[in-house]
Amino acid sequence: MKTKKQMLAILLVIAMAFSVYGCASNGDTDQPSQQPGNDLPDKTEAPEQTEEPSGEGGEMSESLEKIMQSGKIVWGTNAAFAPFEMRKGDDVIGVDAEIAAKIAEKLGVELEVVDMKFDGLPNALTSKQIDFIAAGYTIRPDREEQMLFSDTYFKAVQTIIVQEGNTEIKTAADLEGKTIGVQSGTTGDFTAEEYTADENIIRFNNAMEAAIDLSNGRLDAVIVDDLPAQMIVAENPGLVLLEEKAAEDEEYALGVRKDAEDLLEVINEVLAELKASGQINEWVEEYSFLN
Ligand code: GLN
Repeated sequence: MKTKKQMLAILLVIAMAFSVYGCASNGDTDQPSQQPGNDLPDKTEAPEQTEEPSGEGGEMSESLEKIMQSGKIVWGTNAAFAPFEMRKGDDVIGVDAEIAAKIAEKLGVELEVVDMKFDGLPNALTSKQIDFIAAGYTIRPDREEQMLFSDTYFKAVQTIIVQEGNTEIKTAADLEGKTIGVQSGTTGDFTAEEYTADENIIRFNNAMEAAIDLSNGRLDAVIVDDLPAQMIVAENPGLVLLEEKAAEDEEYALGVRKDAEDLLEVINEVLAELKASGQINEWVEEYSFLN
């Protein structure tokens, strides 16, 4: 068996060869590919950095090996969740896009984004269509059965949006039996189940679509994470937030495949640096006031 150093050296050569090829062929693919921020990964830093993601046995996980060999890491998200991810033309921008770019930079690989349905993210991860999830994604025990979560990087809470002047729904308890719009498969969806029967929950592809039906009077309320809720209300006159929250606080983290402990180590290092410098909060501010 080869030593760890030899393995890394070989993988690096392969990764570099592939990244040259990857750049040349980028324009041929339909997949949206991007580098948020201006920093292209500096390949000269790669040798030092690839030493970090080593498993205990000295071998890379299959997940990390695939990333290094292909010279790219594939980020899965649902880009309708401002300020964490939203579309700007063909690009996906936002707090998670910035974090994803830093992870790619740390690994010395390209970042590719796949913008998909939110409830398809876990399957896309286990079927290796994507390498990690960053989607304002809340840690939950059922999700932990499917993936490994990174350290947390943001606290959120489920928030109730109603039409201005609604006299029937003033507190969370008033949601009982009401028609509630949510994004399918989200913690807002699971929270709604605690207040109303399943047949009264209308599931949308994203919370903005739910907000349109709330404005039209087809829904009594929408439940969604607090920052997206604030942005929805700011953009939709006639909608307001209830002061009382719908659930306990929750926390966002990134998800990787269960074998990818070494990738997780790198992700946690990136998050630790970004949290220590206050950069994540700066991005939250920056992307909350885009429009
Ligand atoms: N935080 C929520 C969840 O993880 C919603 C995330 C989202 O809609 N992108 O379910």
